[in-house]
Amino acid sequence: MASDSAASRFDIAIAGASFAGLALACGLSQALGSSFKIVLIDRAAGAASRPDARASAISAASKRMLEALGVWQAIADEAQPVARIEITDSSLEAGVRPVLLTYDNVIDTGEPATYIVANSVLFEALLAAVRRSPGLEMLVPAEALDFASSDTETRVRLADGRELVASLLAAADGRHSRLREVAGIKVVGWSYPQIGIVTIVRHERPHDACAVQHFLPAGPFAMLPLKGNRTCITWTEAASEAERILALDDAGFLREVEQRFGGKLGAIALDGPRQSWPLEMHLARRYVGPRFALVGDAAHGVHPLAGQGLNLAFRDVAALTEVVADAVRLGFDAGDAQALSRYERWRRFDSVVSTATFDGLNRLFASDRALLRSGRELGLGLVDRMPFLKRFFVGEAAGLNGELPRLLRGEAA
Ligand SMILES: Cc1cc2nc3c(=O)[nH]c(=O)nc-3n(C[C@H](O)[C@H](O)[C@H](O)COP(=O)(O)OP(=O)(O)OC[C@H]3O[C@@H](n4cnc5c(N)ncnc54)[C@H](O)[C@@H]3O)c2cc1C
Repeated sequence: MASDSAASRFDIAIAGASFAGLALACGLSQALGSSFKIVLIDRAAGAASRPDARASAISAASKRMLEALGVWQAIADEAQPVARIEITDSSLEAGVRPVLLTYDNVIDTGEPATYIVANSVLFEALLAAVRRSPGLEMLVPAEALDFASSDTETRVRLADGRELVASLLAAADGRHSRLREVAGIKVVGWSYPQIGIVTIVRHERPHDACAVQHFLPAGPFAMLPLKGNRTCITWTEAASEAERILALDDAGFLREVEQRFGGKLGAIALDGPRQSWPLEMHLARRYVGPRFALVGDAAHGVHPLAGQGLNLAFRDVAALTEVVADAVRLGFDAGDAQALSRYERWRRFDSVVSTATFDGLNRLFASDRALLRSGRELGLGLVDRMPFLKRFFVGEAAGLNGELPRLLRGEAA
């Protein structure tokens, strides 16, 4: 813990020690060494206070960044490569589920475009890497209340009355970012009338590294393969129906899962708790302010149907690490205004495109109207016959398209 003495001055204060905040701290510590002083603040007390049943699709680019940060090594044994993707679109009652689109999820180098990793495994690996990093202090639990920036520094006030002084404040404090509000940055966005239900099942037969996206009228039912005969389900359901399903006992809940899961993998059993999240999309109008930057869900939130929220957060991390490291190496401080506007230019356009795309896909697929249904069946059928389009989708999922920061190329920042 920091005292209120000289130790309270830092190059960067990061509010939020979850996926984005931890990765940013690792990246900057690795790039700039122990003389670069970092403080990481989180109001949650640590992993025990945040059980997370989710598993995330980690893109090949995110994996390269985690490798470069020395984090992947702790995850590798638990990461399930996804070799194939199947997309189906049918009603809940349909006896037959025609596979409308299927493709090998492999990039040109022969590596998988995505890996499925349990969030708890990823969190622990990032936290362990942060604890090994030099020049890094963690204040947990501690809540960032507000901040004020001047030409030379930013002062961050904590709920317990302490004050930290830094050259830059990075807000990685999640979708309801308090610091974004304090900075006066508005968001565009809306809530979906949908809930994301997450659980893990164990099944009789192997999944053969295949991920399935089953589009149902209420939203997608994603089956993400895990190590062993296990699958993480990320299931978008209409809010009222989700309430009913979540209130069922285990046997009733399992029956609902079975109805959607299908019989392809044999008998299934629940293998983890059920959790739920309200779903929404949001996009901050600006990503930076004086000596201030938004990172991860604090900057944008997307529908989980494409499994890209965390990957977008890691793209922010890689870009912010690079612009700050470049500025500091040139003799500027971490809150340099030109470096921050470079970060905003780099990341905001990409986030606008991603949020709009995932929002559009959710609207297109979460509908049972006959015309839309035939239109998307036709579209998916056409894509299925076009190898170059499939390659483009795989490249997008791998996060390897566009101008990539060094960390996402697997290089040191
Ligand atoms: C159902 C579901 C499934 C998903 N599946 C995927 C997937 O497959 N792939 C993918 O890429 N993404 C997925 N996502 C999205 C992904 O989980 C998020 O994008 C990611 O968790 C964002 O991480 P973050 O670090 O930005 O924010 P968060 O994880 O929300 O962390 C914010 C942190 O800030 C702390 N905090 C908040 N306020 C303060 C404060 N004032 N002071 C100090 N600390 C504070 C909190 O305690 C927390 O630790 C999914 C999301 C959902 C809801």
